[in-house]
Amino acid sequence: MTGSPDLDDTGRLPVYDTGVLPVSRPPVIELVDVTKVYRTGTLEVEALRGVSAVIDESEYVAIMGPSGSGKSTLMHILGCLDVPTTGSYRLAGEDVSSMTEAELAEIRNRRIGFVFQQFNLLPSLNASRNVELPLAYAGVERAERHERAQIALARVGLEDRVDHRPGELSGGQQQRVAVARALVTDPDLILADEPTGNLDSVSANEMLALFGELHASGRTVVLITHEPEVAGAAQRTVRIRDGNIQEEPARAGSAR
Ligand code: ADP
Ligand code: MG
Repeated sequence: MTGSPDLDDTGRLPVYDTGVLPVSRPPVIELVDVTKVYRTGTLEVEALRGVSAVIDESEYVAIMGPSGSGKSTLMHILGCLDVPTTGSYRLAGEDVSSMTEAELAEIRNRRIGFVFQQFNLLPSLNASRNVELPLAYAGVERAERHERAQIALARVGLEDRVDHRPGELSGGQQQRVAVARALVTDPDLILADEPTGNLDSVSANEMLALFGELHASGRTVVLITHEPEVAGAAQRTVRIRDGNIQEEPARAGSAR
């Protein structure tokens, strides 16, 4: 053991837990010069052109941009549904840029809670069973799954709807079930893609209030949207245009 005994296998200096000071943790998201090139036949589309960004634990960030700017591409990479063509992505300190399909599936289930525009609930399962699904994939046994699902559903105010199927719930309630499903694994990151896109304005506001509460309780939330009112609920906005991002200065104290 000569060489660099102070460096851990990520090449960083290790953080020692003294039991007194809080241990500093890596950012939840760390993108360095990420590109994504789609090749269809002889045509190449550079959907991301060197994106770098850091999102820390407990931040609430909106990603905004016009159609075709690369939002979905970025969301797929952040969500470990796809990998960059070049550049690196560390999720909670773990380099996911070159992982295999199976490794990506495992990290997705363990570290990310997804909320989609279309809710993506299974219609034949009641709310409780829908929320249990990510735990079932993770191999958690039945009784614990059930208990954790009840806690997550109570967290989103649906303790009296656990036996209802999606078809027996309003759109706003279905999306709250989806949020409970996203929370139940205690993920590092909640990644929401146009989560209010299919909701009426009252339900949309309730959904934004819920994300605000999750943020206030220390969750890291990244929300993708094209609606300025939705982005306005976040702490800061990252704008994407033609595959490049521009971070806005922090809202408070900004002269604009
Ligand atoms: P947004 O979500 O902001 O509308 P996308 O990330 O979907 O933007 O798309 C960014 C660019 O990449 C667009 O020019 C789009 O046509 C192209 N693109 C997206 N997905 C693919 C794909 N699977 N194959 C080829 N080109 C794609
Ligand atoms: Mg899109």
